[in-house]
Formats: sequence, structure tokens, C-alpha cells
Amino acid sequence: MKKYETPLLDELEKGPWPSFVTEIKRAAEKSEMANDELGQLEKSYATKRGYWKHGGIVGVLGYGGGVIGRYHNLPEEFPGVAHFHTVRINQTSGFYYDTKSLRMIMGLWDTYGSGLTNMHGSTGDMVMLGCRTEALEPFFAEVSSRGWDLGGSGSGMRTPSCCLGQSRCEWANIDTMGITHHMTHHFQDEMHRPMWPYKFKIKVAGCAVDCVAAIARADCSIIGTWRDEIQQDDAEVANYAKDGMDIQAEIVDMCPSGCMSYDGKKLAINNKECTRCMHCITKMTKALAPGKDKGATILIGSKAPIVVGSLLSWVIKPFIKVDAPFEEITELIENIIEWWDDEAKPRERIGEVIEIKGMRSFLDAIGIKPQPQQISSPRKDPFFFWADEDFEK
Ligand code: SF4
Repeated sequence: MKKYETPLLDELEKGPWPSFVTEIKRAAEKSEMANDELGQLEKSYATKRGYWKHGGIVGVLGYGGGVIGRYHNLPEEFPGVAHFHTVRINQTSGFYYDTKSLRMIMGLWDTYGSGLTNMHGSTGDMVMLGCRTEALEPFFAEVSSRGWDLGGSGSGMRTPSCCLGQSRCEWANIDTMGITHHMTHHFQDEMHRPMWPYKFKIKVAGCAVDCVAAIARADCSIIGTWRDEIQQDDAEVANYAKDGMDIQAEIVDMCPSGCMSYDGKKLAINNKECTRCMHCITKMTKALAPGKDKGATILIGSKAPIVVGSLLSWVIKPFIKVDAPFEEITELIENIIEWWDDEAKPRERIGEVIEIKGMRSFLDAIGIKPQPQQISSPRKDPFFFWADEDFEK
């Protein structure tokens, strides 16, 4: 194999953090694809140019998504990366694997691909980087025969993802993994055969800490919450004070809705004004806990900047029960997608369509009433609409 000098990439190995360059070098010891990836990347850094040609129709039989075609502009110079397609494998809910499964997948990837992966992609899938066209079907046959499947890509449902929720986290208000598993199976056809104007992402977080960053990335965020009162243990509040916590400064003054007060003895919470942000609960883990009447807040519309700028999600449903078999929430998401599919132009995400058509027509179409929690940005304008009947009344 050709040995590449990589002075520019070597710079990225300096410092105390792990380096993707080190990992590519390790893979390059036994893979020509990974070796040429190293060479072409060094050239990119030197010339400040990208050499990937995006696209081309590649995939596996019966699937419209799950494989992203990638070809190189300089196939003679870097033959190992002439084809460098990405294969997305549907990740497990909560990203739990056993080592046997990981070894199996990586063994197959060493055989059929470059050996390089990205665990995990922004959508959530296991991203297998670098496969030749003729190796796609054999790799897929091996993986799928062992019970694994491709994830979503293109203009369809993207692989739903979630935090690890109730499996390990005391703050999880909903069964994030159960919901994700259900949504993945329910929208299987829409994941594997993209049929919409553009992508649609569902992410599920067990609480407002939002470890999957759903609020910034998902077209539809399902965030666990509660509608009764924060559970409070006054003796533990006193212990925090005794141990030196400045409850006024660290808890009360940090509350975004100003719903708390502390008189030096008793922490009082006006639960009606609480926005369930989780700040106090995450600071006083022994004293405070989410309420017992649990469910989810549904938000809509976030995305990274492509057609217009980036968007954060808006709350459209402050509280909904989400217990198995998840019928109510599934119906709501189906209604949302149906409206978007009817109204959107190609490559418009749902947040953009709501901006263009207006929150009013969106809420009307999906049958959700305007509520004070539906705001365009925090502590600012509510989406409140006057209809003709209101004036008549
Ligand atoms: Fe726990 Fe909340 Fe993070 Fe999920 S989002 S892992 S429930 S803190």
C-alpha cells in the first residue's frame, strides 16, 4: 500500500483529546480504502478543496434509503476511495449493544467496507463509512440475515432516536426506548421508501434535560414531562443548605419562570408557574424529583440551516399521555406529517412550512387548540389567534 505523508493531519493528533486521524491511521494499516481516505483527506487540507461527489443512485434491492452514494473526483489518484458509499444501520434504542453484536458488525465491515465508522451519525444510525457499489448487497445480506436493518436517509422518515430513558435514568418521565422502537416499526415503510417532500426526524427525550438534543434537531420532539407537582423532600432541602448550597442564588434565582421562593427554611414552589425545565431537579437530586402524573410535551419544527436559517422547536402540545401502545401520539404525528406532505414544496422541512403558512393554519389542520404554552420564542409572543367567532362573541 502507498504510504502517505500527512503533516497537516498529524496536527490534529496533538492535544489531549481522541483524534479521528489516529483512528483512520489504525484502519489504514489493514485497509486500502482507509489508507486512500487518509491520502485524499491530507490533499483536501492542503488544497482547501473537497473532492467528494455527492449522490448517484446506489442502494440495495427494495430500499430507497439507507445508503448514501459517494464517489471521489480523483479515482486514479485515490483508487481505494473511488466509491466510498455510506451505509446506515438502524441503531438500537438508547444505543445499547452487546460486544458480540458490535464485533460481528465490525467484522463484516472490515470484510466489505473500509473498516471506518461513525458511531453515531446525527440522525442516530451506526454510520458505516466507505463501501464499493458491488459490496453493498453482500454486506446488507449478511447484516440483515442477523436481524439488523438499514436506517433512514433521503426524503423520508429518518431513524427515530432517543435517550436511554427509564433503563438507567431516574428523571425519565416516559418510556423513551419503547416509543422509539414503536415509531421505528410503525414508520418502517416511510423510512425505507422515502416518499415525502424532505426528511422528518423524531427524537425522544425522557425529560427537558434533552440528552438527545431533540429540541434543536428533530422535526418532532417528544420530551418527557409531568403535570402535577414536583416531588419535594424538605429534610433533604435542609441538608443541601447545611452542606453549603446557596439555595437562593443557585436554585431560586436561576428559575426561568421565577416560580420559587426560599425563606431560609422552606423552599416553596408555585407549580402552576413551573415550566418543567429541570434546573432545580438536576441541582438538588436528593430533594426534588419530577411529579408522578407523567407524559410528554410535543414540539415541532427544529432544523439546521439549509433552505432558510436554523430553527428551534416550538411547543404545540404541552402535555399528552404516552403509554403503550402509543396510539394517541402516533395518530398526532401521522396528522402532522399528512399536513406537511400536502403543503410543502420539495426540500422544505415542516418548521419552514409552518413559518410560511402560519401556525394558525397548521394547528387548525391537525386539530390542536391554541394554548398559552405555544409561543414563538421564550417569554415572548404567544401564538394566539382571533377568529371571526371571537369578535362576534
Ligand atoms: Fe435522563 Fe432526561 Fe437525559 Fe433522558 S434526557 S437521559 S431522562 S436526563
